[in-house]
Amino acid sequence: PIYLDYNATTPVDPRVLDAMLPWFTEQFGNAASRTHLYGWEAADAVAHARQQVARLIGASEKEIIFTSGATEANNLALKGTFEALGAQKNHIVTVATEHKAVFDTCQHLEALGAEVTYLMPASDGLITLEQLENALRPDTLLVSVMYANNEIGVIQPIADIGRLCRERVIIFHTDATQAVGKIPVDVARDNIDLLSLSAHKLYGPKGIGALYVRKGIKLTAQLDGGRHERGLRSGTLNVPGIVGLGKACQLAGTSMLEEEKRLSILRDRLENEILNAVIDTHVNGNRTYRLPQTTNISFENVDGEALLMSFNRIAVSNGSACTSALIEPSYVLKALGVPDDLAHASVRFSLGRFTREADVEETIAHVRDVVERLRR
Ligand code: PLP
Repeated sequence: PIYLDYNATTPVDPRVLDAMLPWFTEQFGNAASRTHLYGWEAADAVAHARQQVARLIGASEKEIIFTSGATEANNLALKGTFEALGAQKNHIVTVATEHKAVFDTCQHLEALGAEVTYLMPASDGLITLEQLENALRPDTLLVSVMYANNEIGVIQPIADIGRLCRERVIIFHTDATQAVGKIPVDVARDNIDLLSLSAHKLYGPKGIGALYVRKGIKLTAQLDGGRHERGLRSGTLNVPGIVGLGKACQLAGTSMLEEEKRLSILRDRLENEILNAVIDTHVNGNRTYRLPQTTNISFENVDGEALLMSFNRIAVSNGSACTSALIEPSYVLKALGVPDDLAHASVRFSLGRFTREADVEETIAHVRDVVERLRR
């Protein structure tokens, strides 16, 4: 089937794989080994990758902490901040449509005594600055707002949020897993203190990611041990994974502007032609402030499960792969006010580096056929 689920994960780019391979075999050294060439080479490779990651988001390499992915980065950011500073201020503000890796971590912190405000987005998926401002309190420690939503692709007003948080001396974390590599992200421009990212969303391998920690931000480590990563994340470094993440960041940086253009044209064609060809369909989320390669479409008068099961020529999903063990309507769409039956009959199409025009044409025809058949 045609793969249109790039927001769930991406294939490893062959150039990324090539960069990684030697670090599994001949160059297998431990980056923490200080006494021989094997270790020195691995440490150099990690340092190079750290620069590549930092450059893509406008950070300095000292501010990059490698983790096992964005889930771990989010956990470290939120729990690490609360553990370090929660005795002074314990109020956290986040959004109801966050990924579970932030949402559930906030619930965990509530059980430990944090007070959490969950902002409800408008029906287009966006929160407003005024809404955030009204939620802030003298004891607000941390604001965590995702850069771009994984299910509907909407992009929150991150630069405005960053400016407000910086003014109020509140730590600002953003889960930028879906944004990094797709749109320009700059931690300095946006006044971001903590930022999570993951390699497997940008043509790198699964199981590796990073947390950007702005210089001067205090965190308590969540993994104790050999004090790797400036003591913030102990554990022998995943050198091949880190090299792959670095290469993926470098490639994303060089192709991003072109890809943004190319994919937004393909996405718009897919979206517009589905809306034209199939009656009673709606796009979920704001269509302007949105990732260039994501569209989430609801189909009225079809059974959601039958719809997804009938797509045999395309690989799509109804949202987060991370929670799809449960066939429940998406909590993101519910937060936008989409009724349950329509939320069930919603499909996320996410395009990527290997999507071609012919794929889009075939998808349009297939979606039209399937929906027409099910409605009959
Ligand atoms: N945050 C967002 C917005 C995501 O889309 C994902 C991916 O599913 C994650 C976090 C989790 O990332 P990882 O799979 O690297 O733990």
